Amino acid sequence: MSLSTRTPISFEFYPPKTDEQRTQLDRTAARLKAYAPEYVSVTFGAGGSTLSHTPDAIQRLAREHGFSAAPHITCMGGSREEIRGMLKLYKALGATRLVTLRGDLPSGMASPGDLRYANDLVRFIRDETGDHFHIEVAAYPETHPQARDAHADLTHFKRKVDAGANGAITQYFYNADAYFRFVDDARAAGVDVPIVPGIMPISNFSQTRRFSELCGAEIPRWISQRMQAYGDDVTSIRAFGTEVVAQLCRRLIEGGAPSLHFYTLNLAKPTVSVLQQLA
Ligand code: FAD
Repeated sequence: MSLSTRTPISFEFYPPKTDEQRTQLDRTAARLKAYAPEYVSVTFGAGGSTLSHTPDAIQRLAREHGFSAAPHITCMGGSREEIRGMLKLYKALGATRLVTLRGDLPSGMASPGDLRYANDLVRFIRDETGDHFHIEVAAYPETHPQARDAHADLTHFKRKVDAGANGAITQYFYNADAYFRFVDDARAAGVDVPIVPGIMPISNFSQTRRFSELCGAEIPRWISQRMQAYGDDVTSIRAFGTEVVAQLCRRLIEGGAPSLHFYTLNLAKPTVSVLQQLA
C-alpha cells in the first residue's frame, strides 16, 4: 500500500505569532511539501485572538510554499459583520475552502456572538457567498463533550451538512471502530459527504493526554499503560506512538477512509515518521 499515490492527505497548522514560530512553520511546511497534500488548513482562535494571524499564515502558505490553503473560521464571540468581513478577506486572498466551526468561548468572554452553532455559520456562509467555498465541518466519532448524547450529536452533525457543508473532518481518536461506527451511523442518517479522519501523531504523550482530556478523545488504556511504562524514555515513547498511529492509519485506509487530515502542531517530524511507515 502506498499512501503517497492512493490516499489524499491534508495537514493542519496553527497560525504563528512570533518570528520564531514563523520560521518553524516555514521549516515544517518545506518538509511536508514532499507529501503533496491536497490542501493545508490553519486554525483560528475563537474571539479574535488570532484575527490577523490566520490570514497572514494562509498567505504565507499559499504564496511562499505553493499550498492550497484553507482558513478555519469560527462564529463564537463574533458578530455577523465581523464574519462577513472575514469571508470578504478570504475571498480576496484566493481561498476556496473553509473549515467551519463554532469554536469555544475563551474564559472571561461573556458573549457567544450572533451565530450560535456551526450549522448557523455554514448557513450564513452559503447565504453570503453561495457556492464559492468548499466547506468542511467538524465531526466527533467519540461524541462532542458538550453533547447531550451520541444521538443528539449525530443529529447536530447532520444539520451542518444539511446547511451546506461539503465534507467533515473528525476530532482525533485512537480507536478505529469509533470512526467506522460513526460513519455507518451518519450514512444511515442520510449523510453522504466524505468524513475524513483527523489524525493526531503522538510524540509528547503528556501533551496528547492533556489535549485529549479537553476535547473528549479517549486514549485506550493499553496505550496509556505502555506509555507510562516508558517513563522518561522519549525515544521509546516516540517509536511506540508512531507505530500505534501508523497502524491506526492503515486500518482507516483499508476500511475506506477517503483521506487523512494530520494535526501537525506545526511540527514535521511526528507526522513524517507516521507517513514514512505508511509509504
Ligand atoms: P457545533 O457543531 O456547533 O457543536 C457544538 C456542540 O453543540 C455539540 O455538542 C453539538 O452536539 C451541539 N449542537 C450543535 N448544533 C446544535 C443545535 N442546533 N442545537 C443544540 N445543540 C447543538 N476550535 C477553534 O476555536 N478554532 C479552530 O480552528 C478549530 N479547528 C478545529 C478543527 C477540527 C477538525 C475540529 C474537529 C475541531 C476544531 N476546533 C477548533 C474545536 C471546535 O471549535 C470545538 O470542538 C467546539 O467545541 C465545537 O465546534 P463545532 O463546530 O463542532 O460545533
